[in-house]
Amino acid sequence: MRLTTEPKPEPTVRMVPPPARHGGPVPWERYFSRGAHAMVPSEVRSLFSVAALPGIVSLAGGMPDVRALPQQVMAETVADVVREHGPTALQYGAAQGDPGLRERICSVMALEGISARPDDVMVTVGSQQALDLLARVLLDPGDTVVAEGPTYVTALGTFKAAGARVVQVAMDRAGVVPDELAATLGRLAAEGRPAKFFYTVPTFQNPTGATLPAGRRARILEVCRRAGVVVVEDNPYGLLHYDGEPSRALCADDPERVVYLGSFSKTLAPGLRVGWVHAPAALTRKLVLAAESAMLSHSALAQLTVDRYLRTQPWQDRLAGFRAGYRARRDAMLRALTASMPAGVSWTVPDGGFFIWITLPEGLDSRDLLPHALAAGVAFVPGTGFYADGRGARHLRLSFSYPSAEQIDEGVRRLATVITERLEA
Ligand code: PMP
Repeated sequence: MRLTTEPKPEPTVRMVPPPARHGGPVPWERYFSRGAHAMVPSEVRSLFSVAALPGIVSLAGGMPDVRALPQQVMAETVADVVREHGPTALQYGAAQGDPGLRERICSVMALEGISARPDDVMVTVGSQQALDLLARVLLDPGDTVVAEGPTYVTALGTFKAAGARVVQVAMDRAGVVPDELAATLGRLAAEGRPAKFFYTVPTFQNPTGATLPAGRRARILEVCRRAGVVVVEDNPYGLLHYDGEPSRALCADDPERVVYLGSFSKTLAPGLRVGWVHAPAALTRKLVLAAESAMLSHSALAQLTVDRYLRTQPWQDRLAGFRAGYRARRDAMLRALTASMPAGVSWTVPDGGFFIWITLPEGLDSRDLLPHALAAGVAFVPGTGFYADGRGARHLRLSFSYPSAEQIDEGVRRLATVITERLEA
């Protein structure tokens, strides 16, 4: 032991204040690409958080009713996949997707008259990823895409973010009008900015619920062939028909010209994020390369789960049950609309899918209506979200896929009261 009165030596480690973790704000906007600047939140997405508030009946989001899927069956299916496939279910896989699942997807497509080969199918993370990859592979900034007016909001956002201009063609209750399409394609070609592709949701369209009849489908294919325009057929609702048989896909009659997008989001569960694209070989090769750079490989677990579900479950019977549920909700919405809407309001009557498109009387704007509707406890999507150019103010989209029949009835009555009040204001 050292006995000393000497002062203790200075500690050799100096206490230096930690360096500042950041040197002030960075103006990130300056670093964004042109494509990123074109990405803006959609009206539908930003509505979701408000629509989820307690007390609000949401007729806004088009959510599949996954509660109708037996949860125990899904739990067992996932567990069986891990048991059956072991590490393969947890490993990277090919960017084109699992070969077994691609084969099964071909048999799903056969229900809509398509004779597909697994080599021409690529699995995607929902059909939304197919839209994104197609935009990367087909579009340069300044290109023109032709679409239905109105059309699926997130497709609009995807094409715009790729720098494309979207020109929309008028629809009537039976979908896009072939003569209008021919005139638009002709005008664009004459102006020296021909369309790259025609994007269509031909069956139970989002947002109108409209379905193209067979005659129009043939005319549209002919118009596009003549104009040298390829077709992107987005068909997530095709198997949700309330009567009869599924519509024959456009792709069934011209698989060389029509790129087909399918999804298990509405027939099984969107949380699995499994969809697909069917395309001619030259395009599929590029899409696979684009998918590799986007995400390396798919979730093997999700793909094998879908594959096992299709192999071992009575999925078509279950789908018939989902259809009956959606049909009952559509009927509840139609009944409530007829009972409570004031004169001058009209609506579409879909034969399948999730959506009804409302037309308001002259002088009403669905964007002005929305805050009043939210205050009254009901949410919808204003029609302007489904157009690239601000049109659609006299329309709104209602979805009946998720709320109960009682909630639908209550929600429509609240909306009708708000519309009546606005008409009288
Ligand atoms: N296309 C259309 C027309 C849709 O309505 C949706 C979903 N709302 C999608 C594509 C994307 O669906 P998913 O990515 O879940 O397959």
